[in-house]
Amino acid sequence: MSDDKKKQPDNIQPTTDNLTIGILGGGQLGQMMTMAAKKMGHRVVIYDVVPGGPAASVADEMIVAPFEDEKALKNFANKVDLITLEFENIPIATLEFLAALRPLHPAPNVVRICQDRIFEKEFLQSHGIPVAPFCVVRSAEELVGAKKILQADTILKTATLGYDGKGQVAIKAGASSEELSQAWDSLRTERAVLEKKVKFQAEGSIIVARSRRGEIAAFPPQENEHVRGILDVSRAPARFSKKVLDQAESLGKKIAESLNVVGLITVEFFVLPDETIMVNELAPRPHNSGHHTIESSATSQFEQAVRAVTGAPLGSTKLIQTAIMLNLLGDLWKTGEPDWKPFLDQPNIFLHLYGKKEAKPGRKMGHVTFVGEKFTEMESTEGMKNFLETQGPFCN
Ligand code: ADP
Ligand code: MG
Repeated sequence: MSDDKKKQPDNIQPTTDNLTIGILGGGQLGQMMTMAAKKMGHRVVIYDVVPGGPAASVADEMIVAPFEDEKALKNFANKVDLITLEFENIPIATLEFLAALRPLHPAPNVVRICQDRIFEKEFLQSHGIPVAPFCVVRSAEELVGAKKILQADTILKTATLGYDGKGQVAIKAGASSEELSQAWDSLRTERAVLEKKVKFQAEGSIIVARSRRGEIAAFPPQENEHVRGILDVSRAPARFSKKVLDQAESLGKKIAESLNVVGLITVEFFVLPDETIMVNELAPRPHNSGHHTIESSATSQFEQAVRAVTGAPLGSTKLIQTAIMLNLLGDLWKTGEPDWKPFLDQPNIFLHLYGKKEAKPGRKMGHVTFVGEKFTEMESTEGMKNFLETQGPFCN
């Protein structure tokens, strides 16, 4: 389609209009978003800097070029009606360049906040949303000087580009100046946050959609367990008190509204022993902890993301079935391809493999979702028991 025949930003018709959606990023989130978009009759063009990611095999087209390549970005924009993204670590200049050419959701300013822990925490604080006590650190000297917060156990995190526990180092209370300098050097960064280690009773996340029309819908929160900083297990519904669930929902909606986000915003949070919650971090996109929605919920998080950015009415976020999602990390391939049979012959188990070619420790290769009536029943299903017995715990 020639450029002048493209639909103008305000003219996009919701629902029945078959659109071409551009997605920045070709990983597993892009793959699952593409599958949802295609189910709804849209076309998808992926843009990524590396070829052959999980989304490549399901998208209609893929452009592989650096994020700084204006010619390739223009070509991408010309091919699509609107643009969204599956990860937040994209240069803001790239997003601003694209936003001038096509509707881009979430907007560059939302991504700017969510891709930088300093901006993110300052945004949350300025809206009165509780976060762990923290300070901004820009050098080893500043770290050594952060005497007050260093009286407790802390975590030093790079401001940008951290994920799956990468770009973080734990610091024990009362660490020596030498240990602190070493911790600083190990991060190889110029900007970081030093935050107090929180003694939480549980971790959770809530995924909130806000559409082009301003409609808002929150999924029920899920409960998450991490191993070595990587998500291991998510359970829905979260086994939290009503007080905690209500706080999560109201904070999630408040954050979506304050950011003015179009698309999804995922809020990761800690549940403290006194049943208050503290926000850990934000992601302006579908989230690993929401994968269970594909089978468990009336609308999957991926379909909801597509609805939100295309201006279609948001879907029901009702959780239809109790679900447990387990991540399948590359560690499981240590002695070759795992035995999937226990997952393939049970009606309540759904195996997802992303088609990544190389299994590395800590790399997310797939996930498996168990659905059923009760957690206890699911945890004792043959598939899960066999798998845990033969493969061991998921992240170890
Ligand atoms: P990532 O971007 O890698 O997900 P997070 O900040 O979410 O980074 O940290 C990963 C995990 O590490 C969290 O889910 C939590 O289990 C643990 N963690 C992070 N920050 C803290 C903290 N301040 N106190 C206690 N645990 C934390
Ligand atoms: Mg996190």
